[in-house]
Amino acid sequence: AAENNIPKEKISAELKLNEEKMKENGSVKAMRAFREKLPAFKVRSEFLKAVAGNQVLVVSGETGCGKTTQLPQFILEEEISLLHGADCSIICTQPRRISAISVAARIASERGENIGETVGYQIRLEAKRSGQTRLLFCTTGVLLRQLVQDPNLTGVSHLLVDEIHERGMYEDFLLIILKDLLPRRPDLRLILMSATINAELFSQYFGNAPTIHIPGLTFPVTELFLEDVLEKTRYVVTADSDSFQGSSRRRNRQVDSRKDPLTELFEDVDIDSQYKSYSINTRKSLEAWKIVLATNIAESSITIDDVVYVIDCGKAKETSYDALNKLACLLPTWISKASAHQRRGRAGRVQPGVCYRLYPRMIYDAMPQYQLPEILRTPLQELCLNIKSLQLGGIGSFLAKALQPPDPLSVQNAIELLKTIGALDDNEELTPLGKHLCTLPLEPHIGKMLLMGSIFQCLNPALTIAAALAYRDPFVLPINRKEEADVAKRSFAGDYCSDHIALLKAFDGWKEAKRNRTERSFCWENFLSPMTLQMMDDMRKQFLDLLSDIGFVDKSKGPNAYNQYSDDLEMVCAILCAGLYPNVVQCKRRGKRTAFYTKEVGKVDIHPASVNAGVHHFPLPYLVYSDKVKTSSIYIRDSTNISDYALLLFGGNLLPSKSGEGIEMLGGYLYFSASKSVLELIKKLRGELDKLLNW
Ligand code: ADP
Ligand code: MG
Repeated sequence: AAENNIPKEKISAELKLNEEKMKENGSVKAMRAFREKLPAFKVRSEFLKAVAGNQVLVVSGETGCGKTTQLPQFILEEEISLLHGADCSIICTQPRRISAISVAARIASERGENIGETVGYQIRLEAKRSGQTRLLFCTTGVLLRQLVQDPNLTGVSHLLVDEIHERGMYEDFLLIILKDLLPRRPDLRLILMSATINAELFSQYFGNAPTIHIPGLTFPVTELFLEDVLEKTRYVVTADSDSFQGSSRRRNRQVDSRKDPLTELFEDVDIDSQYKSYSINTRKSLEAWKIVLATNIAESSITIDDVVYVIDCGKAKETSYDALNKLACLLPTWISKASAHQRRGRAGRVQPGVCYRLYPRMIYDAMPQYQLPEILRTPLQELCLNIKSLQLGGIGSFLAKALQPPDPLSVQNAIELLKTIGALDDNEELTPLGKHLCTLPLEPHIGKMLLMGSIFQCLNPALTIAAALAYRDPFVLPINRKEEADVAKRSFAGDYCSDHIALLKAFDGWKEAKRNRTERSFCWENFLSPMTLQMMDDMRKQFLDLLSDIGFVDKSKGPNAYNQYSDDLEMVCAILCAGLYPNVVQCKRRGKRTAFYTKEVGKVDIHPASVNAGVHHFPLPYLVYSDKVKTSSIYIRDSTNISDYALLLFGGNLLPSKSGEGIEMLGGYLYFSASKSVLELIKKLRGELDKLLNW
């Protein structure tokens, strides 16, 4: 606006005029009627008054009451009608990319606009926004990167932080920063939005900020624990066992013939299209059942209005972090009471419901009140890099200001790891590599692999592997055809003991098949997910853009630049080592078998889905791996066999070994004995490598 020299008053007046016009639009009117029925609408004026009168406000309400879609919209409408449209810039953060997009789309359609006009979104590497945009949905990560550029969030008038009850690591982190920022920006309004769980905690954190609760229009949901259900069943069977059996048999037959619409609800499926499929199903549901199989995402991010019965297994797969063993674990655990409550609340929105708990009340009583916040159960290295790039001072002292500060040992581990990979120096300051890693919105290992891939002319393989690491493995493992799937994966790896090379070849094969229009059969025969491969392909392009943004790659040089050694698989393995270090295990022969040792936890196993599972003899002495997880045992997933030279050149810092004869790697990952001249040469090469990063 400033560029066009249009006075602000004129812009605001125009915005208001447009808004008035849109109100006459038929679909906007219909949407308006729907919106006015949402519980959030009842608190509209109370909410707007509280926003105007307080710097911080906490709003809680059951999922589906209209927090995300309505509250930011109320502010927008109010600002426009008060002729503040030109000055208002509302940001609402979402923990998940998918919800940032779908909520922006939903609000745009409620307003009768296209997405990217008044309402837009921005997620990692993808945006739909314009100069017109006044309400922007973004992921928490995007806002954090904006804070790097502009620590005062200049120009932002309202900031809404959504789903804070989830206690995601980046949301907790953002709250520490905002607490510091508020005194510097007295005009900024902060609104925290939460499910009904623990609003008080956040209010206290922000100096007893006022809270508003949105009462929901819910129907009673009967809660039945395992013992209640068992009792009832026994009663029916003993009272009239023939008729019970008869009716249940009949019921089974009905279920078969009715072809109940069965929908799966999980994070990677576009929420908007899910809403569409639900509304179609809703019509059908007059004569049929609708069955929804859902992951945790249905606990709070998405609401299907006409659910009547909820079956709660009481468990969730939860990541945890074992700081002593530096080990991330993914194990099924009992959920918290808060989650159980949330699950029950999925029913009872349009009529009374029943929630079946597949566990006895005793278990419920023993459940913790809340789930442990993510910051207490995740490795912290990415967070620590963020603290440094935002110049927030000492890592330890900053994190001590969190709502629930993480274990100092976890913080120490993260700092140590960043030193080991060369991102922080001894004084915990960013090295040149660290600075580059901060500018890439990626996990440090993945960022380092991309940087090394471009420096060492191995860009294509680095992009492919990084995409799979950042997203997911494209190999699918059908339970009943596991052996065939194994054979297919192994044939991609060829002679190499490497899951990463199998992945690389599979991806290249898919590209080739796509050119020949044989993509479907290629994926089917090789047990590959076309959706994942497509996503990887998109991510590769995004990674290339990132590398070009920070000046590591010059895109005008064409697709063959930076790929001189891309077909040299030894080189690819070295780049893998550079990225994955210190995820290293040593292969030790034990008779006919090989055992694998890591520095932290000792003996580990190779994941059964790896091409390296069951290999007895490895040609090279080390394996690098993508990650290590504890499930039934400690497994390393996706691994690649590498030489000690790869480790010497691309692993951590080198020290003279204690015996004086050889060389040792910082942290004790490698002991290497060689003549003095070889050691000198290696040191020289590493010095040259450091220079490449130092610009
Ligand atoms: P909350 O944030 O409180 O959980 P939302 O604002 O996300 O609630 O949603 C309010 C209501 O709007 C939901 O109950 C649902 O009925 C409806 N809704 C939200 N998003 C969509 C969509 N994309 N398509 C259709 N209906 C939607
Ligand atoms: Mg919401």
